[in-house]
Amino acid sequence: MTTLLLHTIKEKIDDFVLNSPQNIVNELEMMRMYDQPLVAVAGAHDALWEKLKEPEVVGSQHLSPQEWLVGAKSVISYFLPYTQRIRRSNCSEGFPSAEWLYGRYEGEMFNNALCGFVVEMIERAGGRAIAPSIDKRLAVVNRRSNWSERHVAFIAGLGTFSLNRSMITSLGSAGRFGSVIVDFASAPTKRLYKEVDEYCTKCGACIDRCPPRAINENGKDNGICLHFLDEVLERYKPRYGCGKCQTAVPCEDKNPKEKV
Ligand code: SF4
Ligand code: SF4
Repeated sequence: MTTLLLHTIKEKIDDFVLNSPQNIVNELEMMRMYDQPLVAVAGAHDALWEKLKEPEVVGSQHLSPQEWLVGAKSVISYFLPYTQRIRRSNCSEGFPSAEWLYGRYEGEMFNNALCGFVVEMIERAGGRAIAPSIDKRLAVVNRRSNWSERHVAFIAGLGTFSLNRSMITSLGSAGRFGSVIVDFASAPTKRLYKEVDEYCTKCGACIDRCPPRAINENGKDNGICLHFLDEVLERYKPRYGCGKCQTAVPCEDKNPKEKV
């Protein structure tokens, strides 16, 4: 059992994000990809983990924390918000900006490095930890993963889903999620919402932002979105991404329902 406290883990995650050279893209004039993250905790025995196995949520292939790590007690979930430079660059129409493409591709390498850093920190302190995103058991079947970072973030109280199927946090939706399952108990973060899409105002701004028109007032057509992402990959290989529905919209960098 580790003696690490959550606030120590959060401090170390902040330090890694704000000071790691891996968060910098040299090719784009030393562009930083992520700002200070949000960090939260879900209980490994939360009733919602079973709910994720339902076909209309994620599906039976979704593994619970205990199925990933015997003796799991908590799940640390974080949101890495993109810097203003990346977000602003992608406010144009059409294909994604170079900054966004780096943020999505090199940004995911950074996210994996952060997961590895957290796992190592916990193991060094005497605990056990697994980051599904870098575990060899991670599997995607029919474009559905056995560990959904967005659903994990929802359970951990980080935010809710939105019309375009992104997650809206208190720092908006433009960013990436990650998580680590651990064998020690930490008080779960309170979920400040009741509905799955509570933070989305249904303003419809993301509908007009989507280049292939994959979004309408009822939600997102994943097939149309994925087809566009394939087109982006073809054009910018090995980079890909889009994020037009997460930029130049009211939920880009804040919860639009939060009172200021
Ligand atoms: S742009 Fe408006 S409708 Fe679209 S996800 Fe954000 S808040 Fe919801
Ligand atoms: S990621 Fe791009 S293609 Fe997919 S829904 Fe958002 S704006 Fe549309």
